[in-house]
Amino acid sequence: MNPEERAREFDAADPLGPYRNRFTLPEGVIYLDGNSLGALPKATPAAMARVVEQEWGEGLIRSWNGPDFGGAGWFDAASRIGGKIAPLIGAGPHEVIACDSTSVNLFKLIAAALNMRPGRKVILSEPGNFPTDLYMIAGLERQGLAERRLAARGDLTKALDGDVALLMLTHVHYKTGALHDMAALTRAAHEAGALVLWDLSHSTGAMPVELNAAGADFAVGCGYKYLCGGPGAPAFAYLAERHHAALDQPLTGWFGHAAPFAFSDDYEGAPGIERLLCGTSPVLGLAALEVGVDLIAEIGVGRLYAKSQALSEFFLECLMAFKVDLEQVSPPKSTARGSQLSFRHPDAYAICQALIARGVIGDFRDPDVLRLGFAPAYLSFANIAAAARHLAEVLASGEWQRAEFSQRAVVT
Ligand SMILES: *Cc1c(COP(=O)(O)O)cnc(C)c1O
Repeated sequence: MNPEERAREFDAADPLGPYRNRFTLPEGVIYLDGNSLGALPKATPAAMARVVEQEWGEGLIRSWNGPDFGGAGWFDAASRIGGKIAPLIGAGPHEVIACDSTSVNLFKLIAAALNMRPGRKVILSEPGNFPTDLYMIAGLERQGLAERRLAARGDLTKALDGDVALLMLTHVHYKTGALHDMAALTRAAHEAGALVLWDLSHSTGAMPVELNAAGADFAVGCGYKYLCGGPGAPAFAYLAERHHAALDQPLTGWFGHAAPFAFSDDYEGAPGIERLLCGTSPVLGLAALEVGVDLIAEIGVGRLYAKSQALSEFFLECLMAFKVDLEQVSPPKSTARGSQLSFRHPDAYAICQALIARGVIGDFRDPDVLRLGFAPAYLSFANIAAAARHLAEVLASGEWQRAEFSQRAVVT
């Protein structure tokens, strides 16, 4: 059986097949970049129109209150959506809140961790972690509050000494897709007296995560990747319940106050997860995020993960069938990686551009990585076979060598 025939069989048996129709996917496009910007759920435009035209246009300021006061529940949206993200990451509903960007949430939680570990200043991470994760340490370092330490994957536990306040890692590596052992590393950090922050940007919505079972302290994650919340969607933050009372984060804005509408001169943090809020919630962004989260939760992370593994395994099988020989930088075993496959090639940028010209949208990560994401909610096995065939043709024909494919855009 050739790959296209195998794909037809897989698609016929795929329980998630019908969900593809719940997303807007442009004609002629095979979208392998849902790990960077998730596709648009078909329900999002109407939901946003309702928020804009009715809740804002008609309800005006009244919409901040809940339905019992004739409002639309804007004030509670951050906690409500956090509560919906919680089961996707193995957290309790009161341990997650949707707010700010991933970068800002990192800052609040890194600073909070430093406050909880007086006498310790080291933030331990790995070289090649997502840039913003490493950059967010720098500002605290310049203020003399933090000290960055980087150790390669295999050396992380050795680098955990009595100076480490926080171990901060990305669960699924953005470039290679390699997965960290969350439970083992969390345990090791705790044994060294350090706290742990997991960045779940490339995990949430594509695979099950068990924060509470692992004993994690903090986590952050992205709303616009597998959660399909739209460009620049609010991110989320997780704080284990045992730390709620002790949380001391530096962005003490009025939305994180115990009683924002008491308009007191003095800051008093909210008793729960709301203490992580800073300023007014971005209501329009949250409205789009909620649609994505509802849809991903309806499909279920268990089923999404099973399909994501099947998609990437099938892609590798297609490459074999089409005799494509590329250096794979993602772990060979599907259980050791997230929902993506990355390949190294000195001309990865031009190859990526040639694929995009054929309607196969993946991305390039500097300096030489072609990254293909397999968002399980809306990709079919037929997409995978077709993408693999395009890649084989681009490589065999040398069409990527055309001059136009080496012009670099700002966003890759
Ligand atoms: C996408 C991503 C981010 C994004 O941070 P923003 O503040 O939303 O720009 C952060 N960390 C990781 C690991 C990511 O993959």
